[in-house]
Amino acid sequence: MSYVDEIIEQVIAKNPDEPEFHQAVREVLDSIRVIIEANEEKFRRDALLERLVNPERQIKFRVPWVDDQGNVQVNTGYRVQFNSAIGPYKGGLRLHPSVNIGIIKFLGFEQIFKNSLTGLPIGGGKGGSDFDPKGKSDREVMAFCQSFMTELCKYIGADTDVPAGDIGTGAREIGYMYGQYKRIRGLFEGVLTGKGLSYGGSLARTEATGYGLLYITDALLRAHGETMQGKTVVVSGAGNVAIYAIEKAQQLGAKVVTCSDSTGWIYDPQGIDVAALKEIKEVKRARLTEYKNDRPDAEYHEGRGVWQIKADIALPCATQNELHLDDAQQLVKNGCIAVCEGANMPTTEEATKYLQENGVWFIPGKAANAGGVATSALEMSQNSERLSWSFEEVDSQLKKIMESLYANIDDAAKRFGMEGNYVAGANIAGFEKVLDAMNAQGIV
Ligand code: NDP
Repeated sequence: MSYVDEIIEQVIAKNPDEPEFHQAVREVLDSIRVIIEANEEKFRRDALLERLVNPERQIKFRVPWVDDQGNVQVNTGYRVQFNSAIGPYKGGLRLHPSVNIGIIKFLGFEQIFKNSLTGLPIGGGKGGSDFDPKGKSDREVMAFCQSFMTELCKYIGADTDVPAGDIGTGAREIGYMYGQYKRIRGLFEGVLTGKGLSYGGSLARTEATGYGLLYITDALLRAHGETMQGKTVVVSGAGNVAIYAIEKAQQLGAKVVTCSDSTGWIYDPQGIDVAALKEIKEVKRARLTEYKNDRPDAEYHEGRGVWQIKADIALPCATQNELHLDDAQQLVKNGCIAVCEGANMPTTEEATKYLQENGVWFIPGKAANAGGVATSALEMSQNSERLSWSFEEVDSQLKKIMESLYANIDDAAKRFGMEGNYVAGANIAGFEKVLDAMNAQGIV
């Protein structure tokens, strides 16, 4: 059996009940097979793949907090410090009831290659908790965040591990966590990114993942002689990534006709009203059902369904495995030309394969949503030099990073004879730098 297949089998056997982690490992190792098999004996001797798929450190802890009724609640906290070959661990904190160690490991593993692709010096990590901020009072969210950080602060620091937001962790949660870190450690340092502007945050960080997604989508289209102008776009999600993806798509002249949350979805044939969406999700933290109050002609549907709507471009921006094979078949039938992932691994393996086989340009999340972490790294730079850059400066660096990222994954795919396969291109280009750093640093 080849070394790559042996390691895939080992990962499945040693980490049962972690299907998302298996999926992420399988996808990356399949893509880098060409590099591994060219020098298989050396890599096997060095246990390179074993070191790649086993996190450097996994931290799991109890998070007790008191709810508004005076009852003690206990959640589980996680931080997976996956790979620091090219820089301090960097990756978000997810707060969602579905969080478990397998989800955090899949996200941390993906983060290694995504961070490498940005061209910036950041390693891969991820964390979070099964706490659900939805329906909690501000005081309860603060109590949870303070308890979470009381333990987490022992393992992070501006030069060791710099967490950020993710699903369920927005500006409010980052603020509470930062306050607690500073209080315990006595350090005002860039230990978290996604901070508020008044205490070290970066302009354009809020917009970065969504805007970055559109910069790379635009680069992809232009490389194929197309533009965003006049395109119809379907988006899933209604959170941070989705909102700013919709905003930038509209600025580039496209019409976005859908968005969704965990209970239902909107079809607005006139184009999504971003101001109304921001008010519902960022200010009121309400359900999408409210959208019809602002736009009576729009349709609200329970459940899932955005991929059934005819569009040129699809941007999944909600969560993992939300675009299935039947959705991919419908997109192809409807003439969709590009799918770029705003979320992490939102397209299932079968759906990805179907899209690629049917000529749809497909950019995976680790490349397409890297604008968020890239801008987080720019926030770290600003914190280190104790300066704040203008919105235009950060945004223009983000645009450059996404354009060069597209060029890199396109080039890597071509170099290995897989032109147009951006999944392989992203995995190979991300892996090459990590491999070089791991080789240089010896067996650690
Ligand atoms: P948010 O919490 O701001 O928004 C997530 C959106 O997806 C919400 O509309 C939410 O619905 C919906 N959603 C979440 N879980 C599910 C589910 N299980 N089923 C259906 N819908 C769901 O998160 P972000 O926008 O920050 O993150 C979205 C994705 O992008 C994630 O995969 C994240 O890892 C990834 N990402 C985020 C980055 C960032 O900078 N924020 C950077 C790179 C990747 P509801 O409103 O009902 O909760």
